[in-house]
Amino acid sequence: MSTEGKKGFDTLRIHAGYEPKEHLGSVQVPIYQTTAFDIGSPERAERLVHFEEVGLLYSRIGNPTVAALEQRVAALDGGVAAVAVASGMAALSYALLAAGEGGRVIAAARIYGGTYDGYRKVYPALGVEIDLIDDVNDLEALEGLIRPDTRAIVIESISNPINIVADIQAIADVAHSHGIPLIVDNTLATPYLLRPIEYGADIVVYSATKALSGHGSIIGGLIVEAPKRFNWLGGRHPQFAKPVYTFGNRNVVETFPDFPFSARVRTHYLAILGASLSPFDAYLILQGIETLSERLHRQSASALAIAEYLAKHPRVEWVSHPLLPESPYRQLAKQYLPKGVGGIFSFGYKGDGKENYRFLNALKLFSYHANLGDARSLIINSPHTTHHELTPEELKATGVVPETLRLSIGLEDVADLIADLEQAFAKAVDTVN
Ligand code: PLP
Repeated sequence: MSTEGKKGFDTLRIHAGYEPKEHLGSVQVPIYQTTAFDIGSPERAERLVHFEEVGLLYSRIGNPTVAALEQRVAALDGGVAAVAVASGMAALSYALLAAGEGGRVIAAARIYGGTYDGYRKVYPALGVEIDLIDDVNDLEALEGLIRPDTRAIVIESISNPINIVADIQAIADVAHSHGIPLIVDNTLATPYLLRPIEYGADIVVYSATKALSGHGSIIGGLIVEAPKRFNWLGGRHPQFAKPVYTFGNRNVVETFPDFPFSARVRTHYLAILGASLSPFDAYLILQGIETLSERLHRQSASALAIAEYLAKHPRVEWVSHPLLPESPYRQLAKQYLPKGVGGIFSFGYKGDGKENYRFLNALKLFSYHANLGDARSLIINSPHTTHHELTPEELKATGVVPETLRLSIGLEDVADLIADLEQAFAKAVDTVN
């Protein structure tokens, strides 16, 4: 559990969740590359499996390197606990299943294509029905979707790839007035730019693959739980009230009153579906988090400069950056993201598909690949890659139009990035004439 909430963000990202004295003085978090932990005696095993003593057994369920990452991210987000998993998709799936089990979840439609694909193909098959909401900030529509068996609302704080900024506080207020928890995917913002728990989120999920680690070396995810606020025994979540044999026939809330959601994710979903984060990858994510503030600060400034350049370019149809004067999300961005909105935004290429491809092929510095928040700047044509699984109708529902190009601005010199875009525009057009 995180007890470090009073220290400043930049202190926490370096120190939270780790005490060198407990690890032979090792200044860096050691990589505990082990499958299992010596139990010592059968009596201790009895205490461990019945949760009478907290201790390590097996790295699928808990590992000290992974635990340092969990506690660090929980501290950064103002959470009480976190569970690290093997990918952002695993984080989202486990959070959604743990909250939604046996009922319905209201989910924002204009989001990452992989998540949308899961809403369509996977969760209903696993017993969680999804009710999609087109405009996440339409509170009347949100109220209208709530049913007696609605168990959670899931949104992205800044959406991928078109940068819708969610009015988290207003959505949380609607959710809570009906006894429903709010789950926020905060991948694009990271806790440096936005801490959704401060605005009422009950659960925050991350793809740590992206800006949280920032080096493009790992796949990982995290689920962060807000300090005791949401009442899981309010009637909408029978799974939290069920007695559990291994908890001595108590329910999960009685057994883990401070972090019942994390406990359920760990003991039910991580333990059984098993997408554990490797200790080495946890270590690499921790390395990335040490420079989170500087990276996000720089990427936010560079992305805004590039968005302003693109907004004036004749081969650009539209730019989705929330801080541009024409953005419908400018006010919400200023309210929720005063430090900046990060390095990711999209633009519409003016011109046919062939010219769009020529532009992509002409870029030299921007890398053409499917990641976000990396130190390297990258570009991708989302409808054909990150959202490729969606039919034309589904693409429309996610708000991703065919000409969409998504940028993730890295840490290079802005002038070099603009020069690269400029030469690619020139080449793409030149071939037309
Ligand atoms: N959430 C968002 C907003 C994403 O953009 C992504 C991936 O792009 C994910 C979740 C899934 O993360 P991962 O690729 O780590 O599984």
